[in-house]
Amino acid sequence: MQFDVLTLFPGMFEGPLTESILKRGLEKGLIAVRRHDLRDYAHDRHRQVDDTPYGGGGGMVLMAGPIFEAVEDILKKYPAPRSRTILLSPQGKPFRQERAQELADEFDRLLLICGRYEGVDERVREYAADEEISIGDYVLTGGELPAMVMVDAISRLIPGVLGSQRSAKEDSFAGGVLEYPQYTKPAVVLGYAVPEVLLSGNHREIQRWRYRKAQEATEKKRPDLKTQAEKIPEG
Ligand code: SAM
Repeated sequence: MQFDVLTLFPGMFEGPLTESILKRGLEKGLIAVRRHDLRDYAHDRHRQVDDTPYGGGGGMVLMAGPIFEAVEDILKKYPAPRSRTILLSPQGKPFRQERAQELADEFDRLLLICGRYEGVDERVREYAADEEISIGDYVLTGGELPAMVMVDAISRLIPGVLGSQRSAKEDSFAGGVLEYPQYTKPAVVLGYAVPEVLLSGNHREIQRWRYRKAQEATEKKRPDLKTQAEKIPEG
């Protein structure tokens, strides 16, 4: 999967891409993340890419012109047969695991447009973006963290990026339910013991226990997911 990120702050991506799983995914060539500075598409010597909103009101809005040019340039420079241009916006469709999986399966390049300040000129949403995605019902200062959230969630679904693909399949939301509880060594900590079934070596029993615990966790913590949980067959 290739990601092209259009941003005013390319440096913000430094940390998350230079550590751990994403770093290894990049090194193995399973994912690529190109960062594009929106100011490179400005037309004046001050490299201005924002302006005051029509109709008045405070703050600045990212101009449509530089974004249109940047999108056109990136799509031409880095052609990809299955490409999707996404505007990060608190007004977009909520980003969920299901959408992360669809994007991982259906596209080989995602162009992510990060807004800033009061947002972007509405014509970007109308004419440059294929869709608008929100990472949650709260407002952040810019689209960089949301873009990074998408890069992370989608990258770990690309085969080979995670050490074991089994873990992504069993993660919360993957089957419409939360994951079962996990424990690791030692078997007793401060007198608190691991459930005995996990030490039994009986895989069928462990599977049953995990299925039941996943159902319980979903009912307790996310009853809104329960309708889907009922569709999952017992393993
Ligand atoms: N004035 C805008 C509004 O009320 O809808 C909010 C603009 S926000 C301060 C600036 C930029 O941050 C947005 O253009 C978007 O790119 C990004 N952003 C903020 N919250 C976001 C969220 N929950 N999901 C995705 N992007 C977000």
